[in-house]
Amino acid sequence: MANYIKTINTGDSYDIVIVGAGISGITLAERYASIGKKVLIIEKRDHIGGNCHDFINEAGILVSKYGPHYFHTNDEEVWKYVNRFSQWHHYEHRVIGHNHGKSFPIPVNRITINTAFDLNLKNEQEVEQWITAHKIPIADPQNAEEAVLARMGKELYELIFKGYTTKQWGVDPRDLGTEVTDRIPFRTNDDDRYFTDTYQGVPLHGYTKLCEALVDNPLIDIIFSTDWNQYKDQLSSIKKLFFTGKIDQYFSEKYGSLEYRSLQFEFETLDQEWYQQYAQENYPSLEIPYTRIVEYKHSTGQTHPHTTISREYSTSEGEPYYPVPSERNKVLYEKYRYAAMELEKQNIFFVGRLANYKYFNMDQAFRNALDLFDTVENGAK
Ligand SMILES: Cc1cc2nc3c(=O)[nH]c(=O)nc-3n(C[C@H](O)[C@H](O)[C@H](O)COP(=O)(O)OP(=O)(O)OC[C@H]3O[C@@H](n4cnc5c(N)ncnc54)[C@H](O)[C@@H]3O)c2cc1C
Repeated sequence: MANYIKTINTGDSYDIVIVGAGISGITLAERYASIGKKVLIIEKRDHIGGNCHDFINEAGILVSKYGPHYFHTNDEEVWKYVNRFSQWHHYEHRVIGHNHGKSFPIPVNRITINTAFDLNLKNEQEVEQWITAHKIPIADPQNAEEAVLARMGKELYELIFKGYTTKQWGVDPRDLGTEVTDRIPFRTNDDDRYFTDTYQGVPLHGYTKLCEALVDNPLIDIIFSTDWNQYKDQLSSIKKLFFTGKIDQYFSEKYGSLEYRSLQFEFETLDQEWYQQYAQENYPSLEIPYTRIVEYKHSTGQTHPHTTISREYSTSEGEPYYPVPSERNKVLYEKYRYAAMELEKQNIFFVGRLANYKYFNMDQAFRNALDLFDTVENGAK
């Protein structure tokens, strides 16, 4: 078991200090403890797991504190790695959307188009013909709206993307980069899975248990409710520091603050076994203030006579979740990235989604941390 400490003895000598007990931090802790290094993790929240943290609520239902997390990867090595620390419940995520009085699968597939527009397209070829007839010829899309119009046309844009994107980012899709909507898949077949990766699921007993298993080593000390800033000048003999917090905060925001979108969750436990048909149901309409409703038991596989749901509201206040893909932020981040690279000479490394100012899926966070360990310790590229 890791040592969950209450105070840091600044006289103690650690080989490795890690700021943040999310996936990135605990993966590095696991790797270093496995080669006999003494590790200290400093975490400002009062729990392990970063944004993946989950817990059993007052009704006895396993829920996520910072939004639902579905693991999916094609990275066999990462899949093998996470399987060393937990059994997995196989779960393939499916999403349904409600708008214009219709309910349809998301991402778009043949069934979406048929259901939403009362059509009877029979095969992929007919779907392709429909799309060809509806997509708008824009040779070089310049923003998120144009990107969807060029790929799928106005009807699907207004049904699925326009309201949802506006609510999620708090700005008109015309003011967002093409990458915001480009990453959402589009299918001509009937595959209604949200992800098509080879390996999919959730840890059988939740992400918190998975994270605890990763740090299950007496060489690891963890302190919660403690900000790195409290100790940054006190721990004089740090051999290597891995920082997984916000990169701009590390540098006291000397070039300015990087912007994030956040979420607010409204949890409700209901005196009924099920609330909705799917784990996630999306509400793209601007008339509905939330973006989606999540019902946790669908993905965790838990059996319980009651159920907990959460409604998600996008906001610019709160925990930093999604980097805002604007030109300003890209330029700013490059300045911080350059400053961070300079610190590598002093054995200070920046790792994870906040330090890279990049949306990472969990498998990418594991990969990023595993690769950094190999690079630092073995000189691997
Ligand atoms: C709403 C939401 C849903 C998601 N759903 C999925 C999904 O379904 N599938 C998927 O693959 N990925 C999903 N992700 C992405 C996933 O959460 C990340 O890949 C993962 O959490 C990244 O881990 P990390 O350790 O890099 O960052 P984090 O989890 O953010 O951990 C960083 C930790 O550092 C701590 N910290 C920061 N600054 C300091 C400081 N100064 N001092 C001390 N501690 C500090 C923070 O408190 C935090 O605990 C989702 C993300 C969000 C926001």
